[in-house]
Amino acid sequence: MALIVQKFGGTSVGNIERIQAVAERVLATRAAGHDVVVVVSAMSGETDRLVKLAREIDSQPHPRELDALLSTGEQVTIALLAMALHSKGQMALSLTGSQVPIETDAAHNKARIERIDGTRLRAALAAGQVVIVAGFQGINQHGDITTLGRGGSDTTAVALAAALQADECAIYTDVDGIYTTDPRVEGKARRLDRITYEEMLEMASLGAKVLQTRSVEFAMNYRVPVRVLSSFQDGPGTLVTSEENCMEAPRVSGIAFSRNEAKITVVAVPDRPGIASAILGPVSAANINVDVILQNISEDGKTDFTFTVERSDFERAMNILRGVARELGADDVRGDTGIVKVSAVGVGMRSHAGIAASMFAALAQENINIQMISTSEIKISVVIAEKYLELAVRALHSTFGLEEAAS
Ligand code: ADP
Ligand code: ASP
Ligand code: MG
Repeated sequence: MALIVQKFGGTSVGNIERIQAVAERVLATRAAGHDVVVVVSAMSGETDRLVKLAREIDSQPHPRELDALLSTGEQVTIALLAMALHSKGQMALSLTGSQVPIETDAAHNKARIERIDGTRLRAALAAGQVVIVAGFQGINQHGDITTLGRGGSDTTAVALAAALQADECAIYTDVDGIYTTDPRVEGKARRLDRITYEEMLEMASLGAKVLQTRSVEFAMNYRVPVRVLSSFQDGPGTLVTSEENCMEAPRVSGIAFSRNEAKITVVAVPDRPGIASAILGPVSAANINVDVILQNISEDGKTDFTFTVERSDFERAMNILRGVARELGADDVRGDTGIVKVSAVGVGMRSHAGIAASMFAALAQENINIQMISTSEIKISVVIAEKYLELAVRALHSTFGLEEAAS
């Protein structure tokens, strides 16, 4: 008998019929003799709806109150799923994050899980219950409700699997696995049988929202085998696992992209030591993440300094930088929210030369101008105009032969 954590995303619990179908899947797993802990998201669209309601009152709602609001979505689905299981004769217990409890740090809206007390969960399982835990939420040391950032139910599931030393963590969603790129953008994308933790971590942090980045960190750190599967059809899905369990790595395993990007240029700043820190210090002090950075060579002792931030932080960053530019004697601050980041990811890059050159050639062929470049051992990212996103993803997908079966 195994212990299995199953997570169902928003579309998978989008209406009563689908919640009934989830209950059937849980029953089938029980019938096979396994203990089951289920994690559910809010019904699809619900979290967006709640965010919108909050913003109708205040464009920057108080983070604590926003968490109190957003956590209600998952509270609805845990109760409904418990009722569905009861009506099918299965004992089931719904638990909110604070009832488990799932303890987090105090960072409202993007809290990190610090500790999970499995005592109540284990007792309920031992008593024959299916335990249903609300995804995306926890409780901080003040007893206040926190949420884990958008897509956080994945992290709840993997963290529970780690804490309970579950045999498997199955993430049921609206695609039948992890693909070489988002199948909604490239119809020729191919489902991967396996992907390494490292590659999935890069893919997620570069924008592939099929798993929340932090869930992959948990999986990697605690060696939790994670399988991404479809709620709607049976199939093998994709196993996220360690490198030694993967066959020889292709040069590039996938293409990721992110629309949540904006570019800021501080124009004609005096080129002297300390300038990067003078510009970026106040930005990071405001808890804004800076990603790709580009500093041009100077002319007449002045240089342009360009970097990207998340689009959601753009207005705040611009306000800070207008002040900084004035102090530094820069000519201007320019912003551009019409950009995206497209990345090629693969552990095989470590041992293959020329990936960057192929990538740049493919984009040149499509007449796509590269505005910024950033690389690491296993990824190459380019910043381009948003209107070229789909074209760039398809061109790179084809250049790296991703539509064909891995050889
Ligand atoms: P859930 O609500 O189940 O958590 P999400 O919408 O968060 O589902 O994640 C699933 C979506 O991730 C898919 O519908 C797909 O559009 C998107 N996606 C992005 N990149 C990939 C990828 N490489 N493979 C599969 N899906 C991807
Ligand atoms: N309901 C939350 C969201 O929409 C968490 C999740 O679905 O994972 O972001
Ligand atoms: Mg998700």
